[in-house]
Amino acid sequence: MRAPLIYGGNKPGQWKEISDYIRNRVPAFILLLSHVDELLVATGLGALAFGLPIITDLEVPQLGKIDTTLFEALVTEKDYAKLPSKCILTRGIKVKMSQVAVPVPYAAAFEGERVRREQLAVEFGGKASAVIEFLSSGDEASITDGSVELIGPAIDQLPAGSKSLPLAIVVDVFGRKMQKDFEPILERQIHRFVNYCMGLMHMGQRDMVWIRISKDAYGKGFRLKHLGVILHAMLHAEYSAIVDKVQVKLYTTQDDVSRISSQAQQTYNQRDERLAGMTDESVDTFYSCLLCQSFAPNHVCVVTPERLGLCGAYSWLDAKASFEIIPTGPNQPILKGNLLDGRLGQWDNINTFVQQKSNQTIEAVSMYSLMDGPQSSCGCFECIVAIVPEANGVMLVHRDYVGSTPSGMSFTTLAGSVGGGVQTPGFLGVGKLYILSKKFISAEGGLARVVWMPKELKEILGDKLKSRIQEIGQDGLLDKIADESVATTLEELLVFLKKVEHPALTMDAII
Ligand code: SF4
Ligand code: ZN
Repeated sequence: MRAPLIYGGNKPGQWKEISDYIRNRVPAFILLLSHVDELLVATGLGALAFGLPIITDLEVPQLGKIDTTLFEALVTEKDYAKLPSKCILTRGIKVKMSQVAVPVPYAAAFEGERVRREQLAVEFGGKASAVIEFLSSGDEASITDGSVELIGPAIDQLPAGSKSLPLAIVVDVFGRKMQKDFEPILERQIHRFVNYCMGLMHMGQRDMVWIRISKDAYGKGFRLKHLGVILHAMLHAEYSAIVDKVQVKLYTTQDDVSRISSQAQQTYNQRDERLAGMTDESVDTFYSCLLCQSFAPNHVCVVTPERLGLCGAYSWLDAKASFEIIPTGPNQPILKGNLLDGRLGQWDNINTFVQQKSNQTIEAVSMYSLMDGPQSSCGCFECIVAIVPEANGVMLVHRDYVGSTPSGMSFTTLAGSVGGGVQTPGFLGVGKLYILSKKFISAEGGLARVVWMPKELKEILGDKLKSRIQEIGQDGLLDKIADESVATTLEELLVFLKKVEHPALTMDAII
């Protein structure tokens, strides 16, 4: 009562103003422990009238939301360890972490920092081990806010000479306003949050992650559990609108990592399938993604219903949800505007936006072409599409493929010439699912142009690739696409393509 009278300037008797002030401005709750009598009941009813909920360890009938309260009015919690978070949650108080408690400097300024081999203390993923990061939402009761658990060996326990461990980062969040659609967006922030840490490098997403910890950070006391500390603090700091509780589990045995990866795969598939049936023509707005500008300052992804971000982690729906959560964030709606070229997929507003956000380094960008104004690539593409001029077609190669390709270059060498946020006609970083899209380099004739891809990529794309090939009336194309079992050099490739009469050989000249 004193708060609205003293700070709110209300007068005694202004009942409505006073109760509104308390409800909206006084983040208080009643914690009732061990006993109750008539006086306490009367006081409690008064508190409820002001919108202050009661949390108690007593066995009493529970009372859901009433007119004055934000959420539940009367709640029992018998576990004393859970009482504080129950009070915070019931009153709708938002947790803000003012500092990220890690033993090294933490700020956005460290985002683009690399950790090179000479400085390496320990690494996860890349070629060294399996890593996955997975965020999902759960019930309030199953999540202990701030809990960080390491399950498996710690990095101090690595045998001498070994510098890598498998790792699964499993983040569970609860939020009253959380939606399933927001999970992938929060998950994708792990990349940024970890990179803010001095002496840490994070690349990739989902089950294609690479994390390095430098000797310097290790020497200052940085350990795995600090990854959890970072994620807890930052998810609260930036996403308090939708996140109320965050808990992190870190698994470092291969068994756990494999188990979690196969479970996550189902969720990834569900996330990817939500878009089925939507087309670029059916919407008037595409979304930008500028998240990778920390590594590639001129890079802009334009995400459309039929073309996801090249990292594979941002679909059009994800970008849309991300904009709903943070309207000033990296995903902005771009009204397409006037169609300039339907074959290439160019619109005037998209071009203007990309010009601006690429710091005037990119004039025009085609959504559907490899040769004419292709999108730039940052560095986190799942696959590379590269022209094979001699075959009048293109080859595809994915990140996990370590062998050589008919272009004479491995994935790593190719990646060096494709990335960095520049437009490179003939070369394109793409998300795996874009290969299955009707708009996949449709300006150049689409899937029928593909003359080579690794066996494993064929398997990953699996039945979806088969049905897409049927859809375009190219039965048999899958067997006409060479892989490393029949060709790893250009000569072998050309012999194979002639033998199987690959359609690319008779298509219009690609250059
Ligand atoms: Fe965003 Fe593109 Fe980077 Fe993915 S690759 S995070 S879509 S900018
Ligand atoms: Zn990127």
